[in-house]
Amino acid sequence: YGILYLCPTPIGNLEDITIRALNILKNVDIIAAEDTRHTIKLLNHYNISKPLISYHEHNEKTRTDDIIQALKSKKSVALVSDAGMPLISDPGQELVNRAINEGIKVVPLPGPSAAFTALIASGMSTERFCFEGFLPENKKERRKKLDEIKSEKRTIILYESPHHLVKTLQDLLNSLGNRKITIARELTKVHEEFFRSTLEDAIQHFSGEVKGEFVLILDGNHESAEEKWNNLSIKDHINFYVSSG
Ligand code: SAM
Repeated sequence: YGILYLCPTPIGNLEDITIRALNILKNVDIIAAEDTRHTIKLLNHYNISKPLISYHEHNEKTRTDDIIQALKSKKSVALVSDAGMPLISDPGQELVNRAINEGIKVVPLPGPSAAFTALIASGMSTERFCFEGFLPENKKERRKKLDEIKSEKRTIILYESPHHLVKTLQDLLNSLGNRKITIARELTKVHEEFFRSTLEDAIQHFSGEVKGEFVLILDGNHESAEEKWNNLSIKDHINFYVSSG
């Protein structure tokens, strides 16, 4: 069988690609890309010319079959997404699972991801953290997720699009209170910026026209047991008395 390489690509600055990743892209038989037009720009920049096939959320199922077939006929394949690590809020899970099941070798390459890049300069604790990707859009699922996040002690990493940024900040404020937050904007690009503040200030700062790409780094819940008790709502108090007889 051929090898399936999982190949990270730059999240903005085209120089953020490893020598190994470039060599793999030069040497594989096929590159499977989330958006071939996007990936062509990267390949042109590095004078790489390769057969490209598209692999995105809408053709993931059928394309997985084609790629597995190619791997079985000894072709090597590199999977890339538009930016950063494939499979991190990006397509690829289906393909990787199938490859593992079929006994095909899967080789991941290290490289950039917006989550880690934002986290390490955020000023928030990097000792323990969790990655939540995009919050669910569905109202009910979103509320459930926000409830879950509320008591999370670890630093929380979220992705958000410019269009939904302020709405998401507002939802976070409503359910978590005025937490500390760092917003990393346009990482590795000319207008890279870190806004280190609170949810309330961030809402003020970003209301109006919002452009760019954003990672949200939220402080974990550091409430003491006593504060937790004092902050319980009346409903929670009643539930407590009812459940403890
Ligand atoms: N696979 C990518 C990774 O490893 O980071 C993430 C893909 S996800 C579809 C796209 C989201 O990642 C954006 O909406 C934004 O939240 C974040 N992102 C990607 N590039 C970024 C950048 N240069 N600056 C800030 N956030 C970025």
